[in-house]
Amino acid sequence: MDNNKLAIRLFPNINKTPEDYEKIYPLRDLKEGARVTRFAPSPTGFLHFGNLFTCLVSYKTAKSTDGVFYVRVEDTDQKRKVEGAIEVMLKGLSVYGIVPDEGVIAEDTEKGEYAPYYQSKRKEIYQAYAKSLVQQGLAYPCFMTPEELDEIRATQENESIKGIWGKYAKHRDLSEEEIYKRLDSGEQWTLRLKSPGSVDGKCYFDDMIKGKIEMPENVQDVVILKSDGIPTYHFAHAVDDHLMRTTHVVRGDEWISSTPIHLQLFRVLGFRPPKYAHVAPIMKEEDGGKRKLSKRKDPEAAVTYYAEQGYPSESVNEYMLTLANSNFEDWRRMNKDEDVEKFPFNLKKMSVSGALFDIVKLTDVSKNVICKMPAKKVFDLSYEWAKEYNPALASLYEKDTERATAILNIDRENKKPRKDIAKWSDIPEYISYMYDETFEPCYELTGNATPALALKVLEKYIEKVNLNDDKDAWFTRMKDICPLVGCTPNVKEYKAEPDKYEGHVGDVSTIIRVALTGRTNTPDLYCITALLGEDTVKTRLKAALEHYKEEV
Ligand code: GLU
Repeated sequence: MDNNKLAIRLFPNINKTPEDYEKIYPLRDLKEGARVTRFAPSPTGFLHFGNLFTCLVSYKTAKSTDGVFYVRVEDTDQKRKVEGAIEVMLKGLSVYGIVPDEGVIAEDTEKGEYAPYYQSKRKEIYQAYAKSLVQQGLAYPCFMTPEELDEIRATQENESIKGIWGKYAKHRDLSEEEIYKRLDSGEQWTLRLKSPGSVDGKCYFDDMIKGKIEMPENVQDVVILKSDGIPTYHFAHAVDDHLMRTTHVVRGDEWISSTPIHLQLFRVLGFRPPKYAHVAPIMKEEDGGKRKLSKRKDPEAAVTYYAEQGYPSESVNEYMLTLANSNFEDWRRMNKDEDVEKFPFNLKKMSVSGALFDIVKLTDVSKNVICKMPAKKVFDLSYEWAKEYNPALASLYEKDTERATAILNIDRENKKPRKDIAKWSDIPEYISYMYDETFEPCYELTGNATPALALKVLEKYIEKVNLNDDKDAWFTRMKDICPLVGCTPNVKEYKAEPDKYEGHVGDVSTIIRVALTGRTNTPDLYCITALLGEDTVKTRLKAALEHYKEEV
């Protein structure tokens, strides 16, 4: 068989050779140990939380070694292509601080020496390598029809090795004459790898996350170019990751089963294989068991969910790191105010079986992140969010943005800030009593505070309340009311002789708190009172008084 002649016949327009491409895309000049990683999405427009997570792992792998992180768009399947999808995905990444150094950096915009980064523009490159394999007798045209392939699939149902191999690889050894006859008659062909694997052979690799893996060697004559000349994922992965000089392929672990094919392709193509890091999917607990976070069942599987709910990107990032590296939380405890970028990310500390998604944990992480933000930042970020997702909150803010910031500053910017807010959508409820438009009175009391005591306390407080008080004066006033209503200003005193008093200063303040806010638990009441302003304070105190008058 004249392989060269066949290669020219199959790829008459391919003039460049692998050697040419090796020169066009030389080795990268990076410092020792710098890792080159990539995110390689298909342009579906949907960014799954798992994709974002894998992408973050890939990004951190490069960034923690002063390496390069690039984006390559795997758009060989034009049927799945969605208009504007890349923009949506890249925006989704940039929200979480993932900005590629290289590759597709915006829709139809590429940056970098290893372009093109759209697989759809790389057809000639793949074909040059395919042609070279044919020349070396390592790949062959296969003319089997879809019906024939279906038939084979059906007969293989109970066999352990599937696909086109051994006796099923019917066109592996077609005679030269037969091949040309079929080509001359215009039969469609795909290009298959002539797999050098043997049934007893083993494939070993050391996965950066999963550890040492041993699998049967690939024996399938996998398709490397489809009948339209477009490569399969397997072939494109090998050619692209080689030519783009990827050092570490970080991808979902659904690709582990294909890795023997990939390693074989690298070998056949004469490429040095990259290191693999297969990321386990994010799991969710359900009915005592575990399953993958699902696009269909779980709203939180869509990255857009976090923006809609108003989780700041810092929180989601931080949460993803708790999922990614088991030592992140310890690091955070030791480095409370450190920039998250300083965390020494390590692939070896990734979960092998799949981290569990836990919304309660995300909530906790996010409360910790938000409580450390200055009020101005909370205002700015939540205002941006509100403009898009909660116009009612945006217009409350717009009445007086300074007052809104001051409200958000209550019990903030101090050593022990409160942790009431986990996401911006918590804010409307959290601050509802600060606005007459959203205040909902509720006069239920707790502790020793009874409607009868409330009546007495409110009568006194209405007389005495003074919005010019500083915090000490305000509290003194509260304490001064105590003896007038049968309470003690001293909680210890009350505890020692509870029968002697109707309550203590805490009960007095509860009554005032409930009257002003409709709640028994709020941030600092002094600040709330000051920000409500005299008119509102008086109106609410009077309304509460009227209520208890009727109740008693
Ligand atoms: N396009 C592939 C996917 O979306 C990429 C896998 C890889 O990272 O190699 O699953």
